[in-house]
Amino acid sequence: MSKDHIENAWIGVDLDGTLAEYHGWKGMDHIGAPIPAMVDRIKGWLAEGKDVRIFTARICPQQSEADTDTALRAITHWCFANIGQQLPITCVKDWSMVELWDDRCIQVEANTGEPVRRVKVKCSEYLDLIEERERLRAALRRARLYVDGTLGPERPIAVAEIDRAMEGKK
Ligand SMILES: [Mg+2]
Repeated sequence: MSKDHIENAWIGVDLDGTLAEYHGWKGMDHIGAPIPAMVDRIKGWLAEGKDVRIFTARICPQQSEADTDTALRAITHWCFANIGQQLPITCVKDWSMVELWDDRCIQVEANTGEPVRRVKVKCSEYLDLIEERERLRAALRRARLYVDGTLGPERPIAVAEIDRAMEGKK
């Protein structure tokens, strides 16, 4: 069964450090500034009709009743202010939870115990890599022409182009 077909599927989103900035504990009634990328993602999910829930230890059973009450009020207020609506708040995972977004989670590949590794590349670095790849491809195309004999007389030019590409110069 795919996760899209699980009945009552919901997405859990951690609060501190995931949806709201966290720079150390400042009290149960304090919640950090919204993290725009995560807020926008949630708004997109809600627009698609998905069930999104705040998943936070702030309301875990070890908290006192008073602290839990304070947390629920603070989170509800924060959600209205930053997402425009209330989201369910839970600290309990069940079989309908299809995703959990959390700054502490380490994702593992199912049934293997192997961590799923992601390579974090800045957008600018990614564009540089694409550019470099295209430069190298162009140089290789040129080299192939030389190997074919098409560019026999221009050998020094082809070699210089390849050298420039390898050095990362335009
Ligand atoms: Mg967190």
